[in-house]
Amino acid sequence: MDVKDIPQMITITFDDSMQHAKFATIKKFVLDIQDKRGCPPRITHFTSFDWTQCEPVKFMYDTGAVEQGHHTGMHTGTPTVAQIKSAMDQLEGCGVPKSEITGFRTPFLAYDATTLVNLASLDVIYDTTLIQDDDVASGYGANNTWPFTLENGFTGSIKCGVTGSCINQSYPDMWEIPMYRWYDTSNRLLNDIMDYPLFATDVQQMFNRHYNGNRAPFGIYLHEPWLNKNGAALKQWIEQIMANYNDVYFVTNMDLLEWMQNPVPKSQYVPKACKSRAEMFGCLPPAPGYKCDGWGQFFDFATCKCSCMKNFCPINGGPSNGGACTDWNCPTTPVAPVPVAPVAPTPVAAPVPTPPVAPTTPTAPLAPVTPTAPVPAPYQLKCGSTSSFAVCGKRRTLRGVNESS
Ligand SMILES: [Zn+2]
Repeated sequence: MDVKDIPQMITITFDDSMQHAKFATIKKFVLDIQDKRGCPPRITHFTSFDWTQCEPVKFMYDTGAVEQGHHTGMHTGTPTVAQIKSAMDQLEGCGVPKSEITGFRTPFLAYDATTLVNLASLDVIYDTTLIQDDDVASGYGANNTWPFTLENGFTGSIKCGVTGSCINQSYPDMWEIPMYRWYDTSNRLLNDIMDYPLFATDVQQMFNRHYNGNRAPFGIYLHEPWLNKNGAALKQWIEQIMANYNDVYFVTNMDLLEWMQNPVPKSQYVPKACKSRAEMFGCLPPAPGYKCDGWGQFFDFATCKCSCMKNFCPINGGPSNGGACTDWNCPTTPVAPVPVAPVAPTPVAAPVPTPPVAPTTPTAPLAPVTPTAPVPAPYQLKCGSTSSFAVCGKRRTLRGVNESS
């Protein structure tokens, strides 16, 4: 493929834990941006679980524009299998489908001979930790090594990291997406592989090297504290790229690998669609915090509203109506289930309908005599089986309490 026919991919990635405030910052400076189709830039977030909250993880996932990579349970360099798996499991626990938890970056970019072996044992699809360290061979950003598969180990100008301390063996079905270095206008290496101190000065000239070079993906590697300070500059640059180019795409790492498995020229490349703004953010607690932060509150994903936690009850209309929650003098739940009880006796009779088998007896005249027929109607209990009956009664109770106050 002629190099000018390659769609230029840009991968913006974030690392580390996730809390409501971080989500709000990423939303403000990245996800609120809209391209000509009304879509946000697609990004990848490598999540560790040191003080991570599940709700913003789920909010990010629900936008449909954020790939959730993993970054160990407690942000540990040179992690064990268990430390790697911990984040994968917790992402799943927060509601990210297991099949979409595919990529990894090592905390502190610290790995040793075991890291890739550990990743391979967990069927991780890609690692994106290794830094291309050959300035000249990379043409200072114009001739970067593309992401590559590891079935033959490490080849080309990507060494196994600065220390060379990876086992150079075959990792079938695994990819490495190198981290690309940035250089200043004098080709001096910027020491910061992530969180660029002079972003506004460097980003466009660095992008140009990729775009006018071999079009290897352009990586922008960030943390949320950097975004908090420099978000406006990043946003402005993204918007400018969206306005000025029709062959440049902000993609997740998996989008990038998908294209590499089936590379089509830019004329045929179809960027991922996005949800409507209402779908992306419709189910969110109110800004600016995007959280239900009152006493005894939690965000109920089923209703997309702030609700009262167990043993709390709403006052003044409850949190979704400008009220609040309290644990003072709440009605005790055991009282309410009682009224539901009367419904129960009828289903007991239900097993009787089995007699309808009788119709098989072709003796027609007898059929009308079986008056058992009316019984089936009450059998259709909304609350289901007896085992779920208690749950059904409880739900009604909660609803009753909400409405009453
Ligand atoms: Zn980190």
